[in-house]
Formats: sequence, C-alpha cells, structure tokens
Amino acid sequence: MKITHIEVIVASFARIPGGGPNCPIVKITTDQPGLVGWGNGALSGGELAVAALIEQHLAPRLIGADPDRIEDIWQMFHRSTYWRAGRILASAVAALDVALWDIKGKRAGLPLYSLLGGKSRDKILTYGHASGNSIDQTIEQVLAHRDRGYRAIRVQVATPGYEAGSYGAGGSRGARREDPDIHPSRRVHTWEPTPYLRTIPKLFERVRQEVGDSVELLHDVHDRLTPIQVSQLARELEPYHLFFLEDPIPVENKDGLRVLRQHTTTPIAIGERFSSKYEVLPLIIGQLIDYVRNAVSKSGGITELRKIATIAEPFQVKSAFQGPADVGPLAYAATVHLDFAIPNFGIQEDSHFAGEIREIFQGLPEWSDGYYTVSDRPGLGVDVDEARLRAKPYAPFFFPVIRREDGSIQDP
Ligand code: MG
Repeated sequence: MKITHIEVIVASFARIPGGGPNCPIVKITTDQPGLVGWGNGALSGGELAVAALIEQHLAPRLIGADPDRIEDIWQMFHRSTYWRAGRILASAVAALDVALWDIKGKRAGLPLYSLLGGKSRDKILTYGHASGNSIDQTIEQVLAHRDRGYRAIRVQVATPGYEAGSYGAGGSRGARREDPDIHPSRRVHTWEPTPYLRTIPKLFERVRQEVGDSVELLHDVHDRLTPIQVSQLARELEPYHLFFLEDPIPVENKDGLRVLRQHTTTPIAIGERFSSKYEVLPLIIGQLIDYVRNAVSKSGGITELRKIATIAEPFQVKSAFQGPADVGPLAYAATVHLDFAIPNFGIQEDSHFAGEIREIFQGLPEWSDGYYTVSDRPGLGVDVDEARLRAKPYAPFFFPVIRREDGSIQDP
C-alpha cells in the first residue's frame, strides 16, 4: 500500500455557530481504491503556515510511502526535519498523523479506540463553558448548563471595568463586534490583574451558593498571573473545591508551578500551548500538575498524545486534552477515541460541534447528558462532505492584543 496524493484544505468555520475559526484539513489518498484518510492541524492565527509546511515540506516526503508505518513517519518528521517540533511543525505533523491513523483503522475495519487498546470506559465526562458580562449573567449560564446535563462547567466572568479585555467572558466577543472600523489585527483591549483577582473568588462563592455540590467547577486563568498572584487566587478558591485551575502562569515559567504547589491544594491543569511530550515531561515527573492539556492537533497528533498519557499514568496525572472548537472537528474525534482508550482519562473540554458542521463531518462524537459516546465505525468514524467543506474558504483571523493600563503588553 502506498500514499499517492496529499491535499490540504484550509477551511473557515467561523460563521458556523460553534464551528470555530480556520482549520488546516488534510486528505491522504492511497493506491487502494476508495481508501483515504482525513485529519486536521490547528494553530489559530498561524493556520496558513501550518498548511504551507505540509504542502511544501512534509507531503513530498510521503508520496510513495507506506501509510501503515505511522511511528516511523512521525520520527522522520520530528528528527529528520532537524529543527525539532515547534508549534507549527507539531500541528502540521498532527494533521498527517490523524489522517494516517484514520487510514489504519479503515484498513483494519476497526474504530480508532480499538487500535489504541480498546475502551477503558463506556462514556466520556465533558465540561461546558459558562461565561457572562456579570456574575448574575454567568450564574444564569451555569444553571442553564447544569439543566442541559453538564456535570462539570468552566466558569468565566468579565473583569469589572475591563469587559473587552477579559478572557472567556461574553463581554470579550461582544466588544470585538463593536469595533468594525478597526482592522482585527490592530485591535487592542485593556485588562488589569487586581480587579480580576478580587472578582473571581466572589464569583465562585456565588456559584457554589447557587449550585451546591451538584456540579464540578473549573476556571481558566489563561496565563495572565504571576506565581504568587495565582497562589493567592488558588488558596482563596479552595473553599469552592475546583475540579482544576487551568493555565495558572505563562508556559515559559514552568518553575513558577513550584511556588504554586507550595501554597495550595487546588488541582492544576496545563498544556494547551505545549507542542510535545518534552515540555510537559518535567511537570509530570515533578508532580507539579494534576491534568495534562496538550491538544491532538497542536501537539503531534495521536502518536504523541498517547505517549504523553502513558508517561502521566504512573504519576497519577490525568488527561484533560484541550478541546475548544479551534482544535478542529477531525482532531476532536481523534481526541475522544483516545479518551476512551487511555486508563488515566480525566475530563474532556466540550466543543459541542453542532448544526452544519455535523453535516459536513458526519459521525462526530455524540454528546448526551454530560457525556460523549464515539462512533464504532472504522478509523475516526467520520465521513467528510467534501463539496460543502470546500465552500468554507479561509478567512483571516487575529487574536486581539491585550495591554495593561500603562500600555504594556499583557498575556492574552
Ligand atoms: Mg486554557
């Protein structure tokens, strides 16, 4: 069996509710009639770089190669490209890796989870996103999520006075829509840590009053604090028993997690900005985190993520693989297959792909009552409507720039 053709389609799902921004999608064709594999990379704000790397530098090496040799292909891209896996290469390799696993499953007539060792559980616990411009609005969202069936909910609220610069809050998106005259690449929002640090404990006090212990609660700091600031926050949140506190400090300052660990028992999750096992390895071995959040489409694909899970298992570190819509639908399906197979699954962020995106990608994991189930059809179990996919062309995407009151740069 040989690979005969590789195509990259950069599609924009930004106008599909719940669809996410641009996604570099890969189709690998083989010399076996009808046997093709689909995968996707990610990297919002750098999607075209991922696509170009695949098209210009990686795909030519694969024409004529045996698609069954996934590990060998992964090693070739990691080691023979010389510069090692940065974010762009890790995402490009991920797209190809997911497509190769899709081919392997279809050829074997087995679902991906079966190739990875079979199911370790019957359903996948998910968490949804509740956010608002105010604490009252956020509580409404939390209760709505609970009533829909979520057992776990990530809770974010706009920082008073800095609604547009807040991460994950309703005010952020709303404010962006109010500035049509400013090019998206030059939009600047302002944010300050002190009012944020004062607001979040009040938010969780109110949320616990409303929901009691009926749901698990999570929160994402989004890398915005210093080690001692987030230590204060994590301690203040201890009475509300968070499932985990996510991205407490910038990824460059891994040693800052030691400061945090000295001050709190709030569980810690990190990893969505990592691109390999090498970045997360010292955090697992050092017992500095409780949940690892690398993403299939940003971190070398299924081949790398299953190794990360294996490394984490004896240290009792669990998975919470990143899963917002920008991880892409095919990688998301691959992630849920992996969630089913690994023994140390923790929780899965819910993208909740819906409507048209489920018509373009038929067979995505099905969500019900707080849990995912997964297709038992061969490979990823996802059929792609190519005509409708090609009708969703790339649309430029830029993260906003966040600055402090004094004009200095703040992590977004
Ligand atoms: Mg995060």
